[in-house]
This record gives sequence, structure tokens and C-alpha cells, in this order.
Amino acid sequence: MNDIILLKQGEMVLKGLNKRIFEQKLMANVNRRLAQFGEWNVYCIQSTVYVEPKGECDMDGAFDAMKTVFGVAAVSRAAAAPKDAAAIVETAKTYLADTLRAARSFKVESKRADKSFPMTSIQLSQYVGGELHDAFPHLTVDVHEPELVVNVEIRDLAAYVHAGGEPGAGGLPVGTCGRAVTLLSGGIDSPVSTWMIARRGVEVIPVHFFSPPYTSEAAKRKVLELARLLLPWCGKLMVEIVPFTEIQEQIRLKCPEEYFTLIMRRFMMRLAENVADLNGCKALVTGENLGQVASQTMEALAVTEDACSLPILRPLIGMDKTEIISRAREIGTFETSILPYEDCCTVFTPRHPKTKPRLEDVVAAESVLDIEALVAEAAANTERVRIQP
Ligand code: ATP
Ligand code: MG
Repeated sequence: MNDIILLKQGEMVLKGLNKRIFEQKLMANVNRRLAQFGEWNVYCIQSTVYVEPKGECDMDGAFDAMKTVFGVAAVSRAAAAPKDAAAIVETAKTYLADTLRAARSFKVESKRADKSFPMTSIQLSQYVGGELHDAFPHLTVDVHEPELVVNVEIRDLAAYVHAGGEPGAGGLPVGTCGRAVTLLSGGIDSPVSTWMIARRGVEVIPVHFFSPPYTSEAAKRKVLELARLLLPWCGKLMVEIVPFTEIQEQIRLKCPEEYFTLIMRRFMMRLAENVADLNGCKALVTGENLGQVASQTMEALAVTEDACSLPILRPLIGMDKTEIISRAREIGTFETSILPYEDCCTVFTPRHPKTKPRLEDVVAAESVLDIEALVAEAAANTERVRIQP
């Protein structure tokens, strides 16, 4: 039996003249994800991507992998049949035999992309439905709330039979909306913000600040593990690990305690922007969320973003913590995020952080530091780690 995978494009079908560029990116991303499951023929006709195995392939593995490709609205596994009504019935009977036996009610839904097919969609549905009913007489036909919908699609090259798809990852193909630096801590939030921005078609470069010996090797490994979990969604990932100890020690030594966190966050933005400039990134991404902690009031966010000139994207800004957590569970990062390793943010937290800081006070407080030298030193000692599947 000719088993194939069909990918329905998501909102990129709405793109006008650029559509071809989105499709090409999508197919390149699909091909990269499929490589480990065998050899495939991937092509795109009428807003559907066809994933056809060439010889022995791991269909189950590929099917699951396709659910993590951004730009895809639905994934279905289908059998190809000749474009002939009787052949379509035979294919449905064999390919969906178990599913048909297990269901109590069903209906057939047909679509004709190829209008030269001699029956209308309604005629075809009635014919296939009747034949399947004869072959599986326990089934009742229910056009309103059937347990099983048998889909028949008449397309350019063949007819396809399937029992409905599963939701795809949605969004836009990674790489179609530019590149950004994402600030990845070991917490719950930033893996989710990274995922959300990648889903909007952005290629991401994660940056992590670590402060040995205040933060441990285990904390660093945890962040790399989070990046590994994000890899299927994001495509290639190269994590930049920036040493942050010297900056934090200088802040603690020379700046007023109430501004520790804000000054530290301003350094994070400068260093992230540095990575962005070197890699053609047009924005920074954080897991900040309005009102979650003292450094995430409107005043504090304004003080933080004053330190850089690129836009800061904050996809979680208006979400509730419960929503962020359920997304983290869905994408599989939650269990790793809650492992109890310290983050550099929690190393020198002030007892009474300013929740309504004034920019000029923070700038004055940090002016005792040699900002340029500290940034240059940290940037020079940044380590790059390529994430492997
Ligand atoms: P998270 O759960 O993502 O750690 P958070 O709620 O703990 O976020 P903060 O610690 O204030 O909030 O950090 C806010 C954002 O700053 C994070 O979401 C992340 O984008 C960035 N950030 C914080 N610490 C680091 C770090 N060590 N390395 C890189 N980015 C960081
Ligand atoms: Mg954190």
C-alpha cells in the first residue's frame, strides 16, 4: 500500500506574491526534519505538501516529526489510490479496515481539486459511502456527528484516502520572518517565549548568561537540555554561553543593592544586542511577563530596554502563569525547567528591589562601572555550543 503523509499549510496560504518563498522554506525545513527517518520525495501542490517515502522509511517517526514543523496546520497519513471510484473504495476498505471495524458511525467527505474527475464530490461521497456500508454493515451513516470521517481527496497525481488529520504546529516556517536573539534562562518562561517566537517564523539564537561558581555546571547543562528540547521546533540551534560572574561581582561591589537586578538586566541586553549585531539578528526575545516580578513592572521594563536599541519582543507579556505552564507542558520543557538549579538572576537578588525605578537613578548608579570593558570582556569569552539531536 502506498502510504504517504500530507501536510496542510497554515496561514501562509494567505500570502500573496511571497507565497512561493514561504513554501520553499517550509519544504527545506520538512526535508531537514525527515532526513533521519529515511529517503523521501517532498513536493508541494495546491497548498498541500506531499511527503512520499522512497523505499523503507520510518513512517511513524516521520509523522510525529511533522507535527513539530511550524507552518503546518494539519498532518494526515493517507493512502494513495488511482483516480478511479472503484479503486478508491478498495483502498479505503484495506487501508482503513481496522478503523472502519472499530467505528460505529461514519460519513464520507470528498474534495475534488482535480475538476476533471467524472463524479461530483457529492456523488463520490455517496458512492464510496454506500460501498463501505455494504462491506462493513455494522456501521451507521451519520452525516451530523459521525465517529469517523473518511476523507477522499482527488488531487493532481492521485486520489488520497485518510481518516482525518491531527493538528500541526501552526505558525509560519522558521526562517521566513528573520532572525532574533532569544535570552534563554533555565526557567519556565523563556523556553516558552523562544518557542512562541520561533512559531512566528523566526530563526533564533539562544543566549545564556552563567555565573560560575555561583551557578553550577548542572545549571548550564539544564539550559543546554532545554535547547535540545526546542531543537525539533527551531531547526538548527547554536547556543551562546556568556560568562557573567565578573559583571555581577562588580555590580555587587560598587552599586546600590536596590538596583542590582536592573543593572544586571541592562548588561544582559547589551550583551545580547552584541550577539545580535554579529549575527544579523533584528530583535531580542525575552520571557518577561508584566507584573510577574519586581523587574517586570512597566517602569522596570523601560529601564531595562533603554540599554539597547533593538526592539525587545516579549511574547509572554500578557499571559497568566497558568497559561505559560500549560504551554510549557505541551511543548515538553516544563519538567526540565523545574529542576532545582540556580539562575544567575537569583544569585544576588536585592532584599528591596525598586519596582518604580527612575531611569536617571539607575544610569547614575551604574556609571561607576566600566561598562564597555565589562561587556567587551564577557563577549570575548563567550562560548558557542551547537545543539545536537
Ligand atoms: P524565566 O522563567 O524564563 O527564567 P523569570 O520569570 O524567572 O523567567 P527573570 O529571571 O526576571 O524572569 O528573567 C526574565 C527574562 O530574562 C527571562 O525570561 C529570560 O528571557 C531572561 N533571562 C533571565 N536570566 C537569564 C539568563 N541567565 N540567561 C539568559 N537569559 C536570562
Ligand atoms: Mg529566571
